[in-house]
Amino acid sequence: MIIFLKKDITAKMEKKLHELLAFRKVDVISVNRRDQRLLVVTGRFPEMTRREVEDHIAVESILETDRPYKLASKSFKTDPTLVKFNGKLRIGGSEIIIMAGPCSVESKSQINQMAKHMKESGTHVLRGGAFKPRTDPYDFQGLGKIGLHFLKNAAKMHHLGVITEVLDVRAIELIEKYTDIFQVGSRNMQNYPLLKELGHCRKPVLLKRGMWATYKEFLLAAEYILVGGNDKVILCERGIRTHVPETRFTLDLNAVAYLKQETHLPIVVDPSHGVGRASLVRSMSKAAIAAGADGLLIEAHHDPRHSVSDADQAISTTELTKLVLEVKKVARAVGRS
Ligand code: PEP
Ligand code: MN
Repeated sequence: MIIFLKKDITAKMEKKLHELLAFRKVDVISVNRRDQRLLVVTGRFPEMTRREVEDHIAVESILETDRPYKLASKSFKTDPTLVKFNGKLRIGGSEIIIMAGPCSVESKSQINQMAKHMKESGTHVLRGGAFKPRTDPYDFQGLGKIGLHFLKNAAKMHHLGVITEVLDVRAIELIEKYTDIFQVGSRNMQNYPLLKELGHCRKPVLLKRGMWATYKEFLLAAEYILVGGNDKVILCERGIRTHVPETRFTLDLNAVAYLKQETHLPIVVDPSHGVGRASLVRSMSKAAIAAGADGLLIEAHHDPRHSVSDADQAISTTELTKLVLEVKKVARAVGRS
């Protein structure tokens, strides 16, 4: 159950509503969105109380939802959510948004070269990790703050947006200064303190699906961000663990079709981690767009074999150019651009 508050209510009117709810033992969480204030009912809500609340002077309307992810569900909002960033870019509209770049920011010259190639290929957003979640603690962990600086400057030079990963609550403030979109990695999909804190930010969050996660767990993770008041959430399917040893993960495109029915949030696909092999990325990118994805997140490198991280799945800049051209054809075929 969601209680929508009227726009122009006074503090006194709101206090009276909270008193009524407390008296009727109804627990709620207040959500302050950019353009809307609401109360999410977390437990019981007897029919009698419902009528009383509906008639309250502070209440606009009440919405019933049968999904646990109340704010992410289609019953809360039927129109697709358009996530705007970097001035004029929007994810979730008819245009397919391409985010591409290296797995990690390796040096100033590497990211500058990549940004130039990305722009030429038709990419909208430059990706690059400065803080890397590596399975092996002895592997390259990212350049940190200086990496963010290189990334932002390179993107600015070529008029690209920026997406980079945030691993830790303590780094949010720093990363917010450099990025247009926060990336939450697969391994952090259930890092609830991180999700809660990002819920208080105003920049978009691209939330990757945990490699083990069900759709319900994925949407509930998104709900953590939404309930904090940040309505700019982008879901990202990046492959799950299956029994198949030939690819790094299995890109689950069922997720795209299913989530499109279940949520108003935009969905992006990361075919690079999904397959783990550069030669398969182009095919799966096209499949993702055909399945209804709103964008792609792709790992590319000017010298893939020497990529410091995820070298096997990094595609060359020539391959990326080809990929973007072919993806655009598929996009047009399915009524997108
Ligand atoms: C990445 O994008 O480089 C990354 C670490 O992705 P994931 O969280 O999907 O493994
Ligand atoms: Mn990677």
